[in-house]
Amino acid sequence: MNGDRQPYDLAVIGAGINGCGIARDAAGRGLKVCLIEQGDIASATSQWSSKMVHGGLRYLEHYEFRLVRESLQEREVMLRIAPHLVRPAEFIVPHDASMRPAWMVRAGLFLYDHIGGRISLPGSRTVPFPDARYSAGLKPVFPRGFFYSDTRVDDARLTLANAVSAREQGADVRVHTRLLRGAREGGTWRLLLADADTGIESLVEARGVVNAAGPWVKQVLNDALNVQIDATVRLVKGSHIVVPRVHAGEHTYLLQNADRRVIFVIPYEERFTLIGTTDVAIHKLDDAASISPAETDYLIGAVNRYLQAPIRREDIVWSYAGVRPLYDDGQSDPSSITRDYVLKVDAPGGELPLLSVFGGKLTTYRKLAEHAMAELAPYYPGLRDPWTATQVLPGGAGCAAAELQATLAALQAQHERLPAGFVAQVFRRHGDRTARVLGKATSVDQLGECVGSGDHLLCEAEVDFCIREEWARTAEDILWRRTKLGLHLDAPARAHAAAVCKRLGLRA
Ligand SMILES: Cc1cc2nc3c(=O)[nH]c(=O)nc-3n(C[C@H](O)[C@H](O)[C@H](O)COP(=O)(O)OP(=O)(O)OC[C@H]3O[C@@H](n4cnc5c(N)ncnc54)[C@H](O)[C@@H]3O)c2cc1C
Repeated sequence: MNGDRQPYDLAVIGAGINGCGIARDAAGRGLKVCLIEQGDIASATSQWSSKMVHGGLRYLEHYEFRLVRESLQEREVMLRIAPHLVRPAEFIVPHDASMRPAWMVRAGLFLYDHIGGRISLPGSRTVPFPDARYSAGLKPVFPRGFFYSDTRVDDARLTLANAVSAREQGADVRVHTRLLRGAREGGTWRLLLADADTGIESLVEARGVVNAAGPWVKQVLNDALNVQIDATVRLVKGSHIVVPRVHAGEHTYLLQNADRRVIFVIPYEERFTLIGTTDVAIHKLDDAASISPAETDYLIGAVNRYLQAPIRREDIVWSYAGVRPLYDDGQSDPSSITRDYVLKVDAPGGELPLLSVFGGKLTTYRKLAEHAMAELAPYYPGLRDPWTATQVLPGGAGCAAAELQATLAALQAQHERLPAGFVAQVFRRHGDRTARVLGKATSVDQLGECVGSGDHLLCEAEVDFCIREEWARTAEDILWRRTKLGLHLDAPARAHAAAVCKRLGLRA
């Protein structure tokens, strides 16, 4: 129950991208929403992606035309509503005669250019190699590459921006709160929650439930809510490694591997390269805690076929593993299982709906939320119209491509005694909310204790903002999700940053 003891209209379980997107959409349509997350916002799959808002070029080979079209349309929407977090990016596919035939790649790219109404990004083309810009870092054996456009995204921050927007629309957001069990009783859903830190239990009532628990979707359905439906989730682990930069320039390489999968080599956080991903079917979530030695070897082997300066295990500075909660369409090969989403509604007696989300990409979360609301509309007469395609997410005002540089320059001028590169980093994370992070500070001293060097500084003022405005509870929330400063700081600096976070009331 909430403050006025009225049941919520909708309780959303899981604050990954899909739960946050649905909570935002529902709250903006006038529903009283409670968003319930057992950990931090984006603490599961939604922080472990390849960090692209993309059509998914390779899905064309699996005939996923609906998904690719919707994804490409959403790419345009995301550039408009989250311009501070979703940035245009150039992709290069190096090519030689041993790979998919050139005509096939060209045909795929032609379709990719046209199937989804590309508006703002450059079209694809062939680039003869060697090319000073687009074959940087590659062995000089590839006669050509293919250029195409997509976008890159800060996945955890995109999820967070949706949670912030949901709160601005009136949603009650509860982090570190786990759904233990729930049932339809006395005309409402009664959900028993537990504070993940104290174990203290509380009860919430709601007229409908959304199960957006990602890899836990079946546990929530079958174990917590005791509902059986005809749908299965396939858990497919995907891992990434991060190494010091392997090529100059800001373009990403899409590398075709001998097993016909593709691997992305993505410039990351200025000094690094993000390499992924793998597709490994798993049966228990415990099997996905970290990248396996076999996955590491696979990724290293795949990129070393292309790179002039091969990478070694010792080069890896960070790695991570996530689990795709895919809808089971009966395919045996993990790479072939559909990446599209399926929504299942259970509402015996035509009331108290339970909607469960299977699958779904970061890219399609907004559209998925609209479809979820369309499924729920019969249970909520008077629901307002769709609204999220045009409303900029928190932080995105003044950040459209045409204004981005001017907005940043104005901020840098306002804080002229702060290092310009540092202001740019804070801006990349917070967009137009940067002024609220930095306040009236005219020097670094005025931001409280700061850890790090150069442009990569973690200052008390930002930690404080993340606590007040973004639900941060632990040093990890700050170092790895609200920022990626964990990557830029060495071990002693990370320990120092954790001590600063602790002094400000966060857990280690
Ligand atoms: C390796 C990899 C690469 C990917 N790359 C891309 C990409 O580049 N682009 C793209 O568009 N997509 C990509 N994806 C897909 C995308 O990341 C996922 O589809 C998406 O993040 C799933 O979001 P979700 O909200 O459904 O699940 P999650 O993010 O996992 O969220 C579910 C949440 O539910 C919470 N929860 C579970 N049980 C309970 C409970 N009992 N009580 C309270 N809370 C609970 C969990 O803590 C979790 O936070 C990738 C996925 C992987 C694994």
